[in-house]
Amino acid sequence: MNEDEIRPKLGYVEPYEGESISHYLGRLRRFKANSLPSAYSLGKIADLGAVTGRWEKLYFNPRPTQQELEALASVVAVNADRLTEMLPPTGMTLKPRPIKLCAACYAEEPYHRIEWQYKEQQKCVRHNLRLLTKCINCETPFPIPADWVEGECPHCSLSFAKMAKRQRRN
Ligand SMILES: [Zn+2]
Ligand SMILES: [Zn+2]
Repeated sequence: MNEDEIRPKLGYVEPYEGESISHYLGRLRRFKANSLPSAYSLGKIADLGAVTGRWEKLYFNPRPTQQELEALASVVAVNADRLTEMLPPTGMTLKPRPIKLCAACYAEEPYHRIEWQYKEQQKCVRHNLRLLTKCINCETPFPIPADWVEGECPHCSLSFAKMAKRQRRN
């Protein structure tokens, strides 16, 4: 029996194309078979302490190490290379705030894309629309993607998908 087999395995959640690690970890924790109430509870299972909590906040300084990614990989059954794809590419500066959204993308597939947080990224290249940085109705900043459960503004409940109508052409 190797070490991997001693660690508890979590219910498998398939990652989406381009999904940010913050959004993925939130989904993974809420997945019924897992039901982990906090980032810390996931960190504990993976022996990573508070590290996964930082990733949920999109704080990647210091950058996640291969060892940390392997530790997470062993409990989530997604390999470390696939987890690396949920991070900004090496050398790419990521801006953790504000959280950005292409509502048109979200209306098609409801999840947060890591590329929206690239520092220089101001528009969605698929839709050629400016990314939103706050609710178009009440101007509340978007919560961290790990907390995107209903896909709506936590203050006024306007759905993210409906915000597309106010996204300006670039
Ligand atoms: Zn888009
Ligand atoms: Zn709002």
